[in-house]
Amino acid sequence: MAATLIDGKALAAKLKQNVLEEARALPRKPGLAVILVGDDPASRVYVTSKRKDCEECGFHSEEYALPAGTTQKQLLDLVAELNGRKDIDGILVQLPLPKGLDEREVLLAIDPAKDVDCFHPYNVGQLTIGTPVFQPCTPGGVMEMLREYDIDPAGKRCVVLGRSNIVGKPMALLLLHANGTVVMCHSKTPDMKELAASADILVSAVGKTGLVTADMVKEGAVVIDVAMNRNNAGKLCGDVCFEEAAAKASYITPVPGGVGPMTRAMLMKNTLTAAKLHVLYL
Ligand code: NAP
Repeated sequence: MAATLIDGKALAAKLKQNVLEEARALPRKPGLAVILVGDDPASRVYVTSKRKDCEECGFHSEEYALPAGTTQKQLLDLVAELNGRKDIDGILVQLPLPKGLDEREVLLAIDPAKDVDCFHPYNVGQLTIGTPVFQPCTPGGVMEMLREYDIDPAGKRCVVLGRSNIVGKPMALLLLHANGTVVMCHSKTPDMKELAASADILVSAVGKTGLVTADMVKEGAVVIDVAMNRNNAGKLCGDVCFEEAAAKASYITPVPGGVGPMTRAMLMKNTLTAAKLHVLYL
């Protein structure tokens, strides 16, 4: 079977266009503040692309590039100031933070109503009970892709590789809420290959190039590759051996051009959601 390619780039562009149209209807521009501490080059690239996304969506955006020596208190003071700003709807702290800074305390300090990354325990709790205000960006983007291609997880066996708080766990929850039968695999799962091979929908979020081989893909499965790895040649790639998996799958995401652009689009959608709530209630 030759798989249909799930075009994350095209869908993300469509999503951002919808966000732009909705943003234009608000009495003021949605505002996103991005905090970057230190000079991690990958984080810098992410921050630049978020600024570009904000421009495309008609948002006001602010960047705070703080030096690596920033103290916990300075960072918390900035978060508190942004929490109090009426023109800022979303606050995003680019992770990872440099060593010595307490990531958990910083994420807890963000007003849950401005937690557009959906990392605050309040929002994680809402997600767990099935009443989320914000969608976790990467798994939320995957669900948008499934909807766009009329892939309904209901009654399907969904296998998620990886159990991080950012991707694996919220992914499993969203699939569960969509009535999938969800199995989660991680580094201590002894029979991951067999479990993966039983999946109707297989989501890989591990971060290991070449992890998902053809024998782990059921004929006709939907294969979603969340990972963003660099291969030996420095080229961006996922966990899935694309060509061999595509020969068996019914649908498959590419890397790049799959889940990555959707994650960014979902951040814009969450910022719009936050702005709508703030315009209504503040
Ligand atoms: P992470 O925090 O490092 O989590 C990786 C998960 O994979 C862990 O749960 C780990 O298990 C599991 N794992 C490690 N080795 C394994 C193995 N051999 N077999 C099965 N499971 C294994 O990573 P993450 O933040 O979730 O990110 C995962 C990947 O997605 C990375 O490539 C990252 O760059 C990418 N990513 C992409 C996007 C996007 O927008 N496309 C967004 C976020 C992340 P344990 O829990 O047992 O250690």
